[in-house]
Amino acid sequence: MPERHPAFDPERFREEGRAVIDWIADYWATLASRPVSPAAAPGDVRSHLPPHAPESPEPLTDVLDDLDRIIAPALLHWQHPAFFGYFPASAGGPSILGELLSAGLGVQGMLWATSPACTELETHVLDWLRDLLGLPEKFASRGAGGGVIQDSASSGVLVALVAARERATALAGNRTGLTQDERPLVAYASLDAHSSVEKAVGIAGIGREWLRKIPLDAVGRMDAAALATAMDEDQAAGRIPFFVVATVGTTASGAVDPVAEIAAIAGRHSAWLHVDAAWAGAAAICTEFRGPLVAGANHADSWGFNPHKWLLVNFDCHVLWVADRRPLVAALSMKPDYLRNRATESGSVIDYCDWQVPLGRRFRALKLWMTLRMLGAEALRMHIRRHVAWAGEFAELVAGDRRFDLLLPPNLSLVCFALKDGDDATQALLDGVNATRQAFLTQARVSGRLAIRLAVGGATTTRDDVVATWRRIAEHAG
Ligand code: PLP
Repeated sequence: MPERHPAFDPERFREEGRAVIDWIADYWATLASRPVSPAAAPGDVRSHLPPHAPESPEPLTDVLDDLDRIIAPALLHWQHPAFFGYFPASAGGPSILGELLSAGLGVQGMLWATSPACTELETHVLDWLRDLLGLPEKFASRGAGGGVIQDSASSGVLVALVAARERATALAGNRTGLTQDERPLVAYASLDAHSSVEKAVGIAGIGREWLRKIPLDAVGRMDAAALATAMDEDQAAGRIPFFVVATVGTTASGAVDPVAEIAAIAGRHSAWLHVDAAWAGAAAICTEFRGPLVAGANHADSWGFNPHKWLLVNFDCHVLWVADRRPLVAALSMKPDYLRNRATESGSVIDYCDWQVPLGRRFRALKLWMTLRMLGAEALRMHIRRHVAWAGEFAELVAGDRRFDLLLPPNLSLVCFALKDGDDATQALLDGVNATRQAFLTQARVSGRLAIRLAVGGATTTRDDVVATWRRIAEHAG
């Protein structure tokens, strides 16, 4: 028998794979008894690692021991029941198994021809998901549009922006580069839009100065009248308003921009409208939350959300739908000789490398497919409903305590609150609660004030964890 490569030995993999799955299951089983956040100081982890890579093989047991001893204690446990920071990034079991299968198959799906199932499953599952969220028909693959999985929402907004740039310049941006001196292209997003919008504007050569940050109304939404004025002024001055981002669920407060109004304004200037629903979009799977989340989507050119935030799909998995795939493909397609093949030339297949920045792509659709199949849509709806209900209860507890201000009514499962005593007191409270390592929350600026954010969304979190976290906060408030 030929000698087996140690990296590709089925029997060895079977055994070691079981040990790794057991390690993960034990990690889950012991999560609640661990502190949610690490006590590590900078450099601690590296001080326990040897200075050079090993020359000879080490057994998996030694690696897992080090995982227990060095790595796990220095992690912020994002799957912990008392993790309420940022937005959730919940990694469900079916999705992890899908990720493992994707790695196990090890295929590249840049072209339909490089693994037809990789492309077709993605197209199909994103049609399912569009349907489950109640998004407009124009995003379905049977028409001019369709969906694609990107790594993150930051990539989603970047490729939408590049497509918009090329649509606005009749492909001159790609060809000769932009000259932003005479008739600059101008982009628009609210002051609370995610920083990835500004990053994308820089990367795409628009220039960060040409992103207009539109003020907010009293509840954190883009002020549509201010957008209209800014776009009209730019147009009158000979500039080209070409790209608008509406946020459905801002990172700071979860506010939902008035997308329908924004769409009407963007439409008057033929500007591309991208909807960033990174976190909140998942809640559209519940019909009772859907209305405001998908309002105006019918007039959007692109709409994206992260199943890797609140839909139990492990990072990374951002879904971007476009109403018309042609500008995206025109902006991003590169077909050197070594990629040419009959299927592409027939024009009857999708080559997803034309919808993203990198060429190579892994089989991410598997984890989405497995999550939808093995949990079913109703379990995903219950997951979201429970979090929204618990956030509502938490908000009532805050509102009932005279020391606190509830800064906004909760947006879905995000609650923003502060101490009446001011920003310093609020920061000290947040630091004090996080220092217990029994709960983890983060901050944002909401209506000009420092706010503590409680983002409910973890798969392991229970109602009791939410209530216990309120008690901990109330005790620390003095
Ligand atoms: N957009 C919004 C509204 C977000 O809240 C976030 C992250 O929290 C992002 C975009 C960026 O997400 P990603 O990490 O997938 O790039």
